[in-house]
Order: sequence, then structure tokens, then C-alpha cells
Amino acid sequence: MAPETWSAYNGVVTPDSPGNDPTTKKPPQGAPASPAPSPAAPPAGAKSSPEEEASQESTIAVESAPTHRKAPAHAPPPAPAREPSARALRYREHRIPRRHRVFVNRNLKMTAIRAIGFDLDHTLAHYDPVPVEELGFDLTKRKLVEEKGYPKEVLDLKYDPEWVIRGLVVDKKRGNVLKMDYFNFVSRAYHGLTALRSDERGRAYRSDRIRLGHENYVSVDTLFHLPEVYLYVSLIDFFENRDGKKSLDYEALYKDVREMIDEAHRDGSLKSVITGNLDRYIRLDSEVRTVLEEFRRAGKKLFLLTNSEWSYTDALMRHILMKGKRAPEHWTDLFNVVIVEAAKPQFFLSNDAPAPVAELEGRTMSATVGRGGSATWLQRTLGSGGEHVLYFGDHTYGDILQSKRVANWRTAMIVPELDREITVTAEHTKEFERLARLSSERHQLEIDKAAIGRELRRLTLILSEQDGTDPVRRGEIAARIQEIPDQIASFEQRGSELEHEIGQIRLKIDRAYNPRWGSLFREGNESSRFGHQLKDFACVYTSRVSNFLHYPWNYYFQSPVGYMPHDI
Ligand SMILES: [Mg+2]
Repeated sequence: MAPETWSAYNGVVTPDSPGNDPTTKKPPQGAPASPAPSPAAPPAGAKSSPEEEASQESTIAVESAPTHRKAPAHAPPPAPAREPSARALRYREHRIPRRHRVFVNRNLKMTAIRAIGFDLDHTLAHYDPVPVEELGFDLTKRKLVEEKGYPKEVLDLKYDPEWVIRGLVVDKKRGNVLKMDYFNFVSRAYHGLTALRSDERGRAYRSDRIRLGHENYVSVDTLFHLPEVYLYVSLIDFFENRDGKKSLDYEALYKDVREMIDEAHRDGSLKSVITGNLDRYIRLDSEVRTVLEEFRRAGKKLFLLTNSEWSYTDALMRHILMKGKRAPEHWTDLFNVVIVEAAKPQFFLSNDAPAPVAELEGRTMSATVGRGGSATWLQRTLGSGGEHVLYFGDHTYGDILQSKRVANWRTAMIVPELDREITVTAEHTKEFERLARLSSERHQLEIDKAAIGRELRRLTLILSEQDGTDPVRRGEIAARIQEIPDQIASFEQRGSELEHEIGQIRLKIDRAYNPRWGSLFREGNESSRFGHQLKDFACVYTSRVSNFLHYPWNYYFQSPVGYMPHDI
């Protein structure tokens, strides 16, 4: 059996034919050995064969660098044009552990992609969530005390890493945090740290959809938002316990928290602690460099597009890309273009060219490196745009929505929370199966109840008509009519038992995802607002960029068949 390497597989995939099962093929002759795989994943990284490399023609013109350019090209070798067999790919994907899969909302042909871009924070660089969120929480509360005159007791507030999840919405006017369903109706709500009862929730939000564009609402779009929101609800709890509800201005409180956390980001206090101890705050992914190298070997142009400034970007990228054997001389060698201080989402709306990076003055870099700029400039520089660009990011609005809506890029959303959700789902397989059986029984019960109701109406009608029916038959009908109420009562009894058990199982599963908010992706039987955004804006999604190593470079990511309710 052929090894499960990306490149080995790339070399042999051909249109569907009986002899093209990749599991029976060998790597192309002359392919250099793959780098050692990580134990958690199939190995990846064998280079393209010389024949493949020689066959590629680069048709993408790169503009002169505006700032720092340019050592001889780190020219990406060409990509073979053939596409893999759909039959073979279906077979292979089932063998990829679910945690390492790429999930598809919209079909994505990797052969059509010419340039691939990456956000930095929470996309290429994965933070260890608890220490980094605690750090943001602690620095902000200290600034509130020192700069805004908040009481010293605020320093005793402790961070709870499970309290806030992405996709929630903050109602700044009322001091509430909301989870919304697919239709933007409020399904769960907390005021400060206290859950709102359903009647309180109903009074506050009635049955109206929330208009998220309104200034009262703030959406929790990135993992950086979590400590900010938890500090906000903790402060509401703190002040209301101390002073009662009437005196608190929830909007002003949110403004203070926002201002101080922004300052912690802006004045470098947060970043200097992180860069001072990268081992503590950054989770290393041993395969992230390999996936970048593989994309380059496949002939893709790579770019980094981050809102972080150069010094922070440089520190993080050195840490995640320049360790171990065969590390590049400089991490920028892996990219064609590096844009720092991009100011996304404005980046997608302007036409500016980037400015030079002061720290790099006088240095020659193999990549084009600049500050700011615009998607228009970037696409011109890459020689590719629109549907030929694939962009990886974690921010629902700044990375994914805007790049798709304005620049028409294909989008890959990084959702680190997927790992936990998939694990919880797998641990509750039995509960999900039981839930499916009980739901099916409840559905059948409704059908039976409807049938018996129809029977009762029909028999009552027959009995009421003095049409000379045989008296014996009339007696039988009357007896049957007598039995029906008991049967209906037993159906109803079973129905309420089912409701109770279904409710209990749902609660158990829900709490396993998150004790307050349930699943990040679902609410009831529908997608949550976050799940809905993910479906709408991300062409594909996965928990980390290196999961792409489990697929051939020329993979055709295909969305599952979507059924309408009337199809099922
Ligand atoms: Mg990010």
C-alpha cells in the first residue's frame, strides 16, 4: 500500500479508472523522501518529481516591490494539471480522522487556486487560549483601576475561560449577553453573570429579530473578544451586587472595558508579555511550515495579511516557522508578499499601495514586505484575484465576510473550537443515537394520534347517521369508540415520557459543549448564528491550516448533498 503522503499521492492521481486507486499506487520515481511525519497525522511533504517541476509554467507576473525587494525568486515549482479521481478521494477522506478534516460549504477546486493568503493571529499562530485570555483579562482590569479609577476590588475578579464563546452578541444598552439562533432570535441570555428567565428574555427581546447593525450590539467575532466580554459581565455582577441595579450605566462600562483592552493591545503591554514568553502563549504546530512549503511546491503564491505590526509578526513567525531542521533562512522566504498593519476590513475597500516597514530599511528580503495597502494592490502584485485567491482567517467579519464579499476571494475559516466540539460529539454518540430513536418514536406517535383521531371522527359520524346499519355492527362501532379515549390517553402519556427523556438527553449534550451556551454551531435543531455565518461566508472550514496536509494539493473539496425539508 502506498504511503499516505500528500505529494506521493499528488503524483499519481488521474481521472477515474479501475487502475487508479491511490491506495495501490507507489510514489513517483525519484520523489525525495518526506519529512518525518507527526505522530498525530499522516506524513506529508514529499517533493514533486523533477518531471512535474519541469512541466510547470508560471504565468503570474509579480510587480516590483514597493518597499523591500528582491532576492532571486523562491520560485514555486509548477503543479501537475490532473485532478484526482472522485472515487479515490471519497475513499480516502473517510480515513482522515474527523479532527483533521476540512469541511466544505461550497465546492473548492484547489487546482483553480493560484494564490493563498493567511491571517496571523489564531490562524497561522495558535494561542494557548487560557493563559492568553487571562493575560488580556488581567491587564485590562488593572488598567481600569489605574487609569479609570475603578475600585481596587476589581483586581480580585478571576477569569473563567468557559464562560464566553464566539458568536455571542453583547447588548451594551442592557448589560446582556445573547446567543442567537439561525434566524437572529434570542434563544439564551445572561444579564451580567445571571441567566435571564424565559419571561425576562421575552420581555426584553419579545419575538423580534435582533438588528445587529444597531450600535447597541457588539458581535463576539474573534477569540480575542472573549476576555473583554467576560470582564464586562463580571463588572456588571460586581457593581450590581455592591450598589444595586439602578445606578449602573452599562454602555459607559462597556466603553471603558473596550478602551482599556484596546490600549493594552495598542501600547504593547499585551504583546510584550506574549513575545517575552512565546513558549507559554503560543501552541506550536509542527506541520505549519510543511503545509506552506507544500502549497509553494504546488505552484501557489503565498501571502501573509495581518493587522499586527512588523515587530510582533516577526517575533511570532520566527517562533512558529524557524525552528527545527530545514528551517528557512528567514520566515519571509516562504511568502511572496507579507503585509503587516493591514487594517482589515478597510484593506478590502481601499486602493492604496503599502508603505515601507521602517525596521526593514536597507535590508533585502525575498518577499515583498509592506505596511497597509489594499486588496486591489495585492491582487495586482500577485497577478491573481477573485476566485483564484484562497484566504485563511479566523475573524468572521474582518477576514472571511469582507474578503469574500468585497474581493470575491475563496475563504477557509480557521475554527480552533472545532476540536472540542468534535470530541464532545464523539463522546456522546450513544446519546445522539438514543435521541434519534426517541425523536423517531415521537414522530410516529404523532402520526398514530392523528390516525386514531381521524378514526374517532369517522366512527362517530357513522353512528350519528341513522342509515339502517346492522345493529351488531353499530354495537361494535360504539364499543370501538369507547376504547379510543384510553388509547389517546396512553399515547399522550407516552408522548410526555418521550418529551421528558428527549429534554434530559438534549440538556446533557448541551451542557457537555458548554454549560451555559451549548454548542457553538447549533441552537436547538438549527444552526446557531455563528454556525449560520460559518455556512454562509466560509467556503471551507477546519481547525488548523495544517489539516490541508491530509489532502492532495489538487483536491476537489466538494460540499455534501444538501437536502431541503421536502426532500427528506
Ligand atoms: Mg486573526
